[in-house]
Amino acid sequence: MASYLVLFGPQGSGKGTQAEYLVAALRVSRIAPGDIFRREKEAGTDLGKLVAAYTARGELAPLDITNSLMEKRLGEADCVRGFILDGYPRNVLQADALDGMLRTLEKTLSQVFEIWISDDEAVARIGGRRVCACGASYHVVHNPPKKEGICDSCGKPLSVRDDDKPDAIKRRLEIYHHDTEPLFERYRARGIFTRINGEQSISKVREDIFTALTTAS
Ligand SMILES: [Zn+2]
Repeated sequence: MASYLVLFGPQGSGKGTQAEYLVAALRVSRIAPGDIFRREKEAGTDLGKLVAAYTARGELAPLDITNSLMEKRLGEADCVRGFILDGYPRNVLQADALDGMLRTLEKTLSQVFEIWISDDEAVARIGGRRVCACGASYHVVHNPPKKEGICDSCGKPLSVRDDDKPDAIKRRLEIYHHDTEPLFERYRARGIFTRINGEQSISKVREDIFTALTTAS
């Protein structure tokens, strides 16, 4: 049976890693708006050019473009086996659009997961990232350089990306709480929502997701 899944979680929740496990185990496609935008831009489609124009100005693509691209993607052949949505829907308007697309495609969401971590944990995980101009990246706790603040490969000083600074992380978390979290109630009402404790080890998070999948089917 095909699995149609949605994976929610704030930045730093390890959602991407878990999505990879699901892709491998269920042999379904992971669908993320960022990947679709990149692909359309590379293919030079009209939609791709539109998206490129917005991102070049540092703006998000308008809702209808995102939805059109998503609708096109969900209708592609590889989605017959199932899919994992990662990074979509992000708000009520997108969730409404998704419901409409799935109705047209005669598909129903099987399960929706949130990998939950606290705001403090998100800030600790993302805020601990350090990068070097040479492309190397580190984490002060999980992957520290041999000498604090210095790149192992080239010896240059490490820095924190603007996006990884506490204020930027908190801004994104606020958007997540305000725009994305209200969606969980709609999926809970359908009996397909599971919240997973993302502050556990990666393997325990994986185990909890797979247990929920088996229990539901
Ligand atoms: Zn370096």
